[in-house]
Amino acid sequence: MSIQVDFMSQNKLEKFKKPFVVVGLGKSGMAAVQLLKNSGLSATEVLMFDEKKEGDLKSWEEITKLTPGTLVVSPGVPLKGLQIQKLTALGWGVTSEISLACQFLSDEKLIGITGSVAKSTVTSLVGAALLKDDPNAFVGGNLGVPFCEYAVGLQQGKAKAKYIVLELSSYQLENCKDLKLDNSAITYLSANHLERYNSADEYYMTKCLIGERTKNICVLNSASEDNVKYASRVPGKTLLTQAKTFSKPELLQKVKLLGAHNKDNFCVAYELVKATGLSDKAVMAMCEFTGLSHRIEFVGEHKQITFINDSKATAMDSVLVAVQAAQEKAGSTGLVYSLLGGKDKALPWEELRALAKEKQIQPVFFGACGELAREKMQMLDRPYFTKLNDALDSVFAKAKAHDVVLLSPGGTSLDEFKNFEDRGNFFKEKVKTFIQQNA
Ligand code: ADP
Repeated sequence: MSIQVDFMSQNKLEKFKKPFVVVGLGKSGMAAVQLLKNSGLSATEVLMFDEKKEGDLKSWEEITKLTPGTLVVSPGVPLKGLQIQKLTALGWGVTSEISLACQFLSDEKLIGITGSVAKSTVTSLVGAALLKDDPNAFVGGNLGVPFCEYAVGLQQGKAKAKYIVLELSSYQLENCKDLKLDNSAITYLSANHLERYNSADEYYMTKCLIGERTKNICVLNSASEDNVKYASRVPGKTLLTQAKTFSKPELLQKVKLLGAHNKDNFCVAYELVKATGLSDKAVMAMCEFTGLSHRIEFVGEHKQITFINDSKATAMDSVLVAVQAAQEKAGSTGLVYSLLGGKDKALPWEELRALAKEKQIQPVFFGACGELAREKMQMLDRPYFTKLNDALDSVFAKAKAHDVVLLSPGGTSLDEFKNFEDRGNFFKEKVKTFIQQNA
């Protein structure tokens, strides 16, 4: 961690009582520590605590012995937890990495994006647009780079962004009082994180809080039933959109992202960038966006065969969404070679049985759980290979024009690979070699 002290920064942090205790030392917690230290605060004014990691403080008990200051609570630490409640009763203030970063903003335009799914996709789409109009734009938050790193960049003399887009989890929304967004979005609502919330209603209402932080408009994807139900509970002005009702169908034709669901995501991103005043060039940059790595990622096309990498898909729902996207691409004449397998985590493979009924879909099983998946899906007549490599060789030998080769495996990567990125990169390399050898 490089420390470059910027003493002007101390004034920006004046409203907070010292010492700061950063609770939770993940990526965002460590970014907050760096920002505080760069701001010229002393070692006794910036302390760290994590139950599972090495920090300055070893226990909650030790914090209670300090003069009450400010807790910078990481999203993973529940605010309703007993310890935080005890400390606030003792006079500790509570803030977050996001709120700290906000102290360093001037006139940047901010867009915030939350939702149960599609956050990363919409954030990246909007990011592609912002970067077209502003090379200094910042894309981060819950996705990629923590917001405090933007503020640290400013301290180190980096140019200010004109536009910022932040992906925000519901945990971050619970604790970001100082965040003022120009525009925002709720991408999609579906029951999630019920381990931390008492009910889906409580979880959804946390997402709706984004409206309270928004000056102009909150855009919602109306293809999500629960979005439609909760739209009236979002404080402030809202705008509902989806591909079916989108006013510019000709623009949707140009969208490179695969899958009907991504057309809805595009519509949300479009309304956001338009409300923020971005150019047509910025909109075109969104059309050109081919997707996040390893998530229904368009890898390439060769002799009219399309290759799609969805290595991240380790849930049955995700596989179904990807297969649907591949089917759209294959049209009425192509086949979809769906590579299924990897390592099992007690997955309900039987939920994929519907795929057996569709002639267009050609499942090919591989890896540690390939045989189990094949059995649970009642597809014993389909091919199985121990290694992904051999499964791919067999598919590459069969694929013809209009076919789609889809790696959306369902199982995790850990039987053969370090992680899903490693597996996806292996697939991409294999496709590259195949294309070179068959040019
Ligand atoms: P998040 O960052 O919220 O986890 P992503 O943008 O990475 O979401 O998308 C994760 C998965 O969610 C996708 O691979 C897809 O299966 C599903 N998904 C994305 N957008 C939609 C949508 N509009 N409707 C339904 N499912 C979606």
